[in-house]
Amino acid sequence: MTDFKRDGSHLASCPPVEKWDDWVELDPQAWPRRVEKHYQLVPTVCFNCESACGMLAYVDKETGQVAKFEGNPMHPSSRGRLCAKGPATINQIHDPDRVLYPMKRIGERGAGKWERTSWGEVLDTFATRIRKAIQEGRGEEVMYHVGRPGADFFMERVLQAWGIDGHNSHTNVCSSSARLGYLLWHFSDRPSPDHANARFILLLSAHLESGHYFNPHAQRIIDGKMAGAKLAVMDPRLSNTASMADYWMPTYPGTEAAVLLAMAKIILDENLYDAAFLKDWTNWGELEFDGFSANGQTFEATIDALKKHYAQFTPQFAERESGVKAEVIVKIAREIASAGSRFASHLWRGSASGNLGGWQPARALVLLHALTGSIGTEGGHSLNHWNKFVARPFKNPPPQAHWNELLYPPEWPLCTHEMSFLLPHFLKEGRGRIQAYFTRVFNPVWTYPDGFSWIEMLRDEEKVGLHAALTPTWSETAWFADYVLPMGFSSERHDLMSQESYAGRWIGFRQPVNRVLRERAGEKFEYTYQANPGEVWEEDEFWINLSWAIDPDGSMGIRQYFESPYSPGRKVTLDEYYGWMFENSVPGLPETAQKEGLTPLQYMRKYGAYEVNRDVFKQNEKPLSETELSGTNREPNGVITRQGKPIGVMINDEAVVGYNTPSRKLELFSKTMADWKWPEFTLPEYYRSHIHRGAQAASLGATQEFDPKYTPRVEWPKDARGEVYTLLPIFRLPNLIHTRSGNAKFLYEISHKNPLWVNPEDAKKLGNIRTGDLMKVHTEIGYFVLHAWVTEGLTPGVVACSHHLGRWRISKDEQVERMSSAWVDLQQVGKGQWKMRQLESVLPYDSPDADTKRVWWSDAGVHQDITFPVHPDPISGMHCWHQMVRVEKAGPQDRYGDIFVDTNLSFAVYRRWKALARPAPGPGGLRRPLWIPRVVRPSDSAYYFK
Ligand code: SF4
Repeated sequence: MTDFKRDGSHLASCPPVEKWDDWVELDPQAWPRRVEKHYQLVPTVCFNCESACGMLAYVDKETGQVAKFEGNPMHPSSRGRLCAKGPATINQIHDPDRVLYPMKRIGERGAGKWERTSWGEVLDTFATRIRKAIQEGRGEEVMYHVGRPGADFFMERVLQAWGIDGHNSHTNVCSSSARLGYLLWHFSDRPSPDHANARFILLLSAHLESGHYFNPHAQRIIDGKMAGAKLAVMDPRLSNTASMADYWMPTYPGTEAAVLLAMAKIILDENLYDAAFLKDWTNWGELEFDGFSANGQTFEATIDALKKHYAQFTPQFAERESGVKAEVIVKIAREIASAGSRFASHLWRGSASGNLGGWQPARALVLLHALTGSIGTEGGHSLNHWNKFVARPFKNPPPQAHWNELLYPPEWPLCTHEMSFLLPHFLKEGRGRIQAYFTRVFNPVWTYPDGFSWIEMLRDEEKVGLHAALTPTWSETAWFADYVLPMGFSSERHDLMSQESYAGRWIGFRQPVNRVLRERAGEKFEYTYQANPGEVWEEDEFWINLSWAIDPDGSMGIRQYFESPYSPGRKVTLDEYYGWMFENSVPGLPETAQKEGLTPLQYMRKYGAYEVNRDVFKQNEKPLSETELSGTNREPNGVITRQGKPIGVMINDEAVVGYNTPSRKLELFSKTMADWKWPEFTLPEYYRSHIHRGAQAASLGATQEFDPKYTPRVEWPKDARGEVYTLLPIFRLPNLIHTRSGNAKFLYEISHKNPLWVNPEDAKKLGNIRTGDLMKVHTEIGYFVLHAWVTEGLTPGVVACSHHLGRWRISKDEQVERMSSAWVDLQQVGKGQWKMRQLESVLPYDSPDADTKRVWWSDAGVHQDITFPVHPDPISGMHCWHQMVRVEKAGPQDRYGDIFVDTNLSFAVYRRWKALARPAPGPGGLRRPLWIPRVVRPSDSAYYFK
């Protein structure tokens, strides 16, 4: 593939920019007649996953309607290509069931009665409550809880302007464990592999078909393969990605770190490591383990001690744990070593998100990069903050001085993100309450574990005072809100985004297509909802207006951040907000725009994206300037500090920036782990997962290979029967988007079933079950019933069920889209006991879209997540998704889609897992290490217990 070029010449078949104002295509509807259609093409950015690929909206010049979305060739990350979910945006914007006006609950919460309200009433209601909470010092009772952010920095700034510690996210059900593994090494909590230039690529996931930044990454993995790179995939499932690989390693779930450490042992034992890199760039001199101290020792003696430490991870041990053949492990280890600095890898969810101790595979994986010197190199592993560019707006508020323990409670001082999935349990324990709760592109009743605990919390007005769901569509969670506020899809809003999707830095500009076009034609709009369908708004303008409503006269110090930088005292417009950033905080953009006679804002509106730079490798080696060095100290270990804070390090007599860790080097040895009560994990190790075979045996009464200090015991509900298995519940289907694809008919036509994958060996054990048989899967808190799919594409001893499917609605004809949800009878049959039964599955129906009459599928899948208890990892705080389950054939009373859950049991499981944690305070009375990042970081003083 030809790489991205700023003039767009890399994609010859895409419309050239000079024709975007009048692009002509033949109308496919008119075929066989040759009828020309004229389009205006407007760039925007896809919002259907985090990748932020560039799209072009094709606006029919005759109707003024968007007719389709295709790739934007001027976007440096996606390079004109989209996955199936990008073009399906057209279904979302034309969805006849979408929310078009702000809606307000009438009657009881969850009763499903709504009336239309105005944006003015919404702003007044929330502003009054929020103002009072802030003025009375109860700012932590205001919470913004986001699923898919879709923007960089906007909300962080809003919350800091309000002075509250109120940002909650979904990250602890997504990627916290992988993040912890990465950040303990080098501060950056995400990997940024240079797949295109790699010689060997190792994926611990189905990354070629789904997963993080998957369209931009998949293109580059294929670039790498076409240039000769080998691909290895570690996954218990034979995914489409594994089927494209040179090596498939079907590991038993949770044993990935054992395999990676066995590879590290081979590279160490056979002296295949990059000694110069290890010596210069890891903190080997601080190592202390097994009674050995590197202090005063030579590098060689330290390597010998490491060899002894990892001696237990023989390929045979790894084979016993994982099921992957020892000779395959040896072969791949040698290939990785021979790729050297051109070894790339990716781990994001999968083993990290599924398992207790899931941060250890990430640590073990970076150990392979440290050994091969493939960090920050072309074709290697890089750091996300080297490859991502976040532009800063004018006038930024100071950090908040508060610490909200509903977000960062003391039990999990090393959690990378907010402990969001425990919120119902925290409120049940009386840790606080919420006065104003905003959920945004967030559907925890459906996407989180333990959804019935969320329903119990959301229905309780004592716990949650006022709840607004900011969402383009109805959802299981919005049903229990007080207000449902329609927000735009990707062609109906502004956002600025960047991601570390390749070896370069870029920004992508999402814009409201109708508004942009109509303003080009001379119309003027005060707000985007005036140009969008109905009164669909966009968050940026909503938050600016809410901030003004909270502080109308500026006396609270909030309004100043939402005034025009060009005309203080006047409300900032989005042209000014983004225009100022493009003029002042994106290097090179003003000059590039000027060459075309455009302002920076006009340039971004025209092209939709801008590549900032490609000079991204080895940023750790950047020398410190004389100015940067003035007033600093040099510590005995070579670290350069200013006022006690590390800012650089001496390497071979040169003062360089290094990494953002306390040692300014890669932390092979984590003193942080020792300081925070986990001295047994200062090195990358193998943590046996909660679904390890030893834990499975323990659930049936055995005690071998089970240490209650690290693994909570499973207590089965009394009616749970059947064989014990590990359930993999988190693999993605490439064409669905959690709950947001429910209104994308193109996507649901492709995928609408989530059967239980069962290996033929297990099918036999379970009583010769066959594809289509009804199975009952018992979790620790309930059960669900679904069909079996017998397949060899899964390792034995494991069953699997995909993410995304099993949407439901309580009302027959309203709310969650009828093409993607079952109508259910939901009953509370006892205190905390919930039963759901499908009354009617998917059927064709009448609507303004004639295609809804043509719906031919009848299945919406089965909702499994709601039957899972919460599993907070004691260190990363991640919800460990894999489930130990008991599987049996369904009985005569069971029906497809049946669900039962007891939330009393889920609270008990929460407490068993919480007991593993080792709470703060840490050194000096800290709540959390100062060097570890935090979303919307408060002032340093807030980090200390008062
Ligand atoms: S990968 Fe697909 S869904 Fe994600 S941003 Fe790109 S086109 Fe959209």
